[in-house]
Amino acid sequence: MSPSPSDSPLLTPEKHVLSTLEADGSRRWLRPKLSKGAMWKRRRIVAYLLLAVYSGLPWLKIGGKPAMLVDLPGRELTLFGLSFLATDTVILALAVLVLFLSIFFMTALFGRVWCGWACPQTVYMEFVFRPIERLFMGTSGKGGKPKKVAPWRTGAMYATYFVICLHLAQTFMAYFVGAENIQQWVWSSPLDHPAAFAIVAALTVAMMIDFAFWREQLCIIGCPYGRLQSVLLDRSSTIVAYDEGRGEPRAPMRKSDGGSFENRGSCVDCSMCVQVCPTGIDIRQGLQMECIHCTQCADACDDIMERTKQPKGLIRYTSQAALEGEHQSLLRPRVVIYGSLITGLTILLLGLVSHVPHADVTLLRSLGQPYRLSDAGDVQNTMRLKIHNRTKTDRTYFIEPVSPAALGFTEETRASFALKSGETVTEPIRLVLPRDCLLYTSPSPRD
Ligand code: SF4
Ligand code: SF4
Repeated sequence: MSPSPSDSPLLTPEKHVLSTLEADGSRRWLRPKLSKGAMWKRRRIVAYLLLAVYSGLPWLKIGGKPAMLVDLPGRELTLFGLSFLATDTVILALAVLVLFLSIFFMTALFGRVWCGWACPQTVYMEFVFRPIERLFMGTSGKGGKPKKVAPWRTGAMYATYFVICLHLAQTFMAYFVGAENIQQWVWSSPLDHPAAFAIVAALTVAMMIDFAFWREQLCIIGCPYGRLQSVLLDRSSTIVAYDEGRGEPRAPMRKSDGGSFENRGSCVDCSMCVQVCPTGIDIRQGLQMECIHCTQCADACDDIMERTKQPKGLIRYTSQAALEGEHQSLLRPRVVIYGSLITGLTILLLGLVSHVPHADVTLLRSLGQPYRLSDAGDVQNTMRLKIHNRTKTDRTYFIEPVSPAALGFTEETRASFALKSGETVTEPIRLVLPRDCLLYTSPSPRD
């Protein structure tokens, strides 16, 4: 017989340690209600636009190139018609730095606006998977074990999830192999492209686990960005927050009050803000790491305020400084520092991008014997020359020895390379130098 929780030698927690854990450590499933308020309507427009962008980007062509393609075998990144090679280390490093600084800057100003409005996890979870779940399973709005429904409903829901996850996995793959390839491969045998097939299968399973099981846990305990909030925000950062000064002391509405809110706060303790929260927290307990700033609680509370004939905004976009009656300053040291760094680095980045050379040329040592002496007594050195045409037109590249003056090529070395746009050639070239040029006399100790 398994011991009951009361027999456990462990202390029983007074309340939920995590919003997604029951007191005994089992999963607390969340089935949040939906509040179709003003913020949700705006978020829905943004979400549908983003869904189109996430799915459409691999198909979009700019200047004949994909809008985004990460060609790992070719070690080439294409972004909005511009191609970057592995040799563009400085440009790529600067771009990553600007990206990270922009995230810090945006978070310092607007809090977790990325999480609530644009993160693919939130967009797909709240505007694709959650609506499907509500369609098949209904909405309880409370934590706890999933309620029982007819088996066909569960089956149909997971079948729909599977089709969407398969599409998402293929879309994700298209960012790496190109949309045209994916389009061809889905109609061919998996044995023709076993690696791609295995990756798509693994991604489909991973997405099923994420959207059907892992869900809000990704935001609460899995996402490093969420963990960083406490250092990225300050008192003037915009957050979604409950106005405690106005809402407390909270109390349910009673008929005997006659609609009066004298000697009490505006919060009617209806718990709607908790029932709609996709991470299962109570925003009235203050700013929490689990809050993804989705504004569902603000929408739900505005609805309650309207019904109780009170001004909206008990839960709203504000800042901790503003809530405590202080000035919400825009120009803070971290905002100025991030902004200046982003501006400076972006100018530098644009300068480097506009001066990217027409061709990427790499001279590599040949494998094996480093040099050999010809019958005529010259020193011959074999190298490998790699040329990549980065331009959008076909070009011919000529090579010539420059220094020292006596340096030349052997007869069999090609002097010109006609390359199509984006084409790469790797060709051995043989350099030849008279042996005399390399003779070296060590100075006498007296010199
Ligand atoms: S929705 Fe508003 S009124 Fe209702 S409990 Fe939450 S804060 Fe209070
Ligand atoms: S507390 Fe409000 S804003 Fe934060 S995650 Fe929950 S519903 Fe969204």
